[in-house]
Amino acid sequence: MTTSSNLLIRGAAAVMTGRAGDAARAGAVDIRIRDGRIAELAAHLAPQGDETVIHADGCVVYPGWVNTHHHLFQNLLKAVPAGMNADLQEWLASVPYPRLDRFTPDIFRTAVRLGMAELLLSGTTTCADHHYLYHHGHGAETGDVLFDVADELGMRMVLCRGGNVQSKSSHPGMRATALVPETLDEMLGDIERLKSRYHDASADALRRVVVAPTTPTFSLPPSLLREVASFARGMQLRLHSHLSETDNYVKFCAENFRCTPVQFVADHDWLGPDVWFAHLVAVTPAEIRMLGQTGTGMAHCPVSNARLGSGIAPVRAMVEAGVPMSIGVDGVASNESGSMVHEANFAWLVHRALGGAKQTRVEEVIHWGTAGGAQVLGLPGVGTLAPGQSADLAIYDVSGLRFAGFHDIATAPVAAGEPTPVRDVFVRGRHVVQDGAVVGLDIERLRRDAAHALTALLP
Ligand SMILES: [Zn+2]
Repeated sequence: MTTSSNLLIRGAAAVMTGRAGDAARAGAVDIRIRDGRIAELAAHLAPQGDETVIHADGCVVYPGWVNTHHHLFQNLLKAVPAGMNADLQEWLASVPYPRLDRFTPDIFRTAVRLGMAELLLSGTTTCADHHYLYHHGHGAETGDVLFDVADELGMRMVLCRGGNVQSKSSHPGMRATALVPETLDEMLGDIERLKSRYHDASADALRRVVVAPTTPTFSLPPSLLREVASFARGMQLRLHSHLSETDNYVKFCAENFRCTPVQFVADHDWLGPDVWFAHLVAVTPAEIRMLGQTGTGMAHCPVSNARLGSGIAPVRAMVEAGVPMSIGVDGVASNESGSMVHEANFAWLVHRALGGAKQTRVEEVIHWGTAGGAQVLGLPGVGTLAPGQSADLAIYDVSGLRFAGFHDIATAPVAAGEPTPVRDVFVRGRHVVQDGAVVGLDIERLRRDAAHALTALLP
């Protein structure tokens, strides 16, 4: 493992910056890293005496992907037969929720290790995990497990602390279980504890805490929504949740509140540049305008939306309305792949299938998945490769035959999708993937732990 935090990455065929427009491409430059930050990007940099040189010939370099919506516990719930052909409502009731109480801290730790390893091996360096394994009297320690494994493997971790409060009757997943939802005091008390123990407000924090009831429509009585938003802002924490993943949200809000879901959350102080929602598939032009005008962010999860038959989010219209755009892989129980390369490839393609070849550009998809993610998470010190930024980056090996015919090799990871081998990954200059292996991960032990844990989660 490379232990020096002074590095020189030399000889890459192309470097993408994560920035928008003409600034997206840095060309075939070398990258100097000092004390975990990018010091210089320029052609033909000469190594200095205290630097470790990383040869990147036959490789392209991207900023580390910033995954803005995930559920790491689901890494032990891939391809559960009962949910393979189910829509969101049936899937919630048959895949994650009936198994929530089987996730002991040990099983959860195994799932998190699997999920983080999978993310790192796609070049992802920041993960916002929307974690909702909470019910009355249970789950508090699992937040600590997430930060613990993130430290072990070197991933930048944003814990979006989910959960449901006193709303079992209306929640489509909780209704299918015998679990008792936690109380508001339990939820907010745990968030205060997590904040004081882990939260770092700095621009390139390795640990963040976010207030994230699982859905604003189903997880809380409306009377508590504004209180939770006010609590988050009083603590200077961001807000995150699911919204309008399917038209069920639209029907529910129309029937119960006589408004659209975005209007409903607006009425309860849940819009703004400190808020981002996952999915936003079923939204009207008026809702898109509200999201754009308030700077409310979006975690686009196209693979999960396709897998569950939920639809395709109107991403082009959202970007044009000024909605900050980012990409999330969502839980792998509704994706089967926890790879940001796969997600970016699908994001690039699916909007073209629907609206034509001008809907997406590779550079823009990279921007959404890196700098865009950093923006919605409030981490301006990551997501782009530029002097002063944290050295979070992925080195893709594009020397294989699969890439031999490329005229524009910089596009390869997104345009070709998987397999695009990740050779090395750095987070704040720490070498977390080396020669295609997660540093410090005991693969055989994890394989055994996963097989053992799986038996507890069957059928
Ligand atoms: Zn989700």
